[in-house]
Amino acid sequence: MIRIALALLGMIAASTAALANDARPGGIAMIDIGAATEEHPRVRYSGKPVLTMQDDGRWIAAVGISLDTQPGSIEVDVGGERRTVAVHEHTYVEQRLNVDRKYVELSQASLDRIGRERKIIDAALNRFVDAPIESIRMIAPVDGRRSSSFGLRRFFNEEPRAPHKGMDIAAVVGTPIKTPLAGEVVATGDYYFNGQTVIVDHGQGLISLYCHLSVIGVEEGEQLQAGDILGEVGKTGRVTGAHLHFGTYLNGTAVDPAILLTSSEQ
Ligand SMILES: [Zn+2]
Repeated sequence: MIRIALALLGMIAASTAALANDARPGGIAMIDIGAATEEHPRVRYSGKPVLTMQDDGRWIAAVGISLDTQPGSIEVDVGGERRTVAVHEHTYVEQRLNVDRKYVELSQASLDRIGRERKIIDAALNRFVDAPIESIRMIAPVDGRRSSSFGLRRFFNEEPRAPHKGMDIAAVVGTPIKTPLAGEVVATGDYYFNGQTVIVDHGQGLISLYCHLSVIGVEEGEQLQAGDILGEVGKTGRVTGAHLHFGTYLNGTAVDPAILLTSSEQ
């Protein structure tokens, strides 16, 4: 019996659906919360529900850790019990950009518009639909060079800005964007900073965001399968050139899309 148990543990290590634990600011903590034969405990972090999924006979929770989390540890609520998770340090590089003054010095009308759009975008990114999810692994939405990475600490015209909460993938205008994982389109719009944008809900609080599109090819409420084309790469909104800004969110927190993509290449 002991040998069988050890063999099962080995299978968990070689798991195919779950990702490796990458508990850093902007990363994902994978927590084993029990046997899949039993109902899993509810998991919450920072007051928000957390994604749970089955993997190799276990329930796994995937906790998004925000970029502004201090290295050390976080506490996750697993069925009412506090679970401590170590968060390791990660250094993100700095990026200094010069951008059009109209995007730095904003008129009141622009600020009002940005405020309205922020509410719509935040509501979409913070959704949590308690539907089963089989995997969180994603295919790349477009092939192309990753022109800057998640977590960059940005300065626009020497003024500090929020860190970059997505992955930029360089591609020419008109390049089709593939849906990286099945989901529902929950928001589309033409926003001040993000330009033409699509937001997809994959369930369990896993949300993906596509910005600066030249063409939006889907409508709100549409169900998409992995590989479906959701739009085309463009340079709308605040950009210096054509690229796809690809963001991924767990429990309302931006997490590095590279974690979700890298695993799909294994
Ligand atoms: Zn970007």
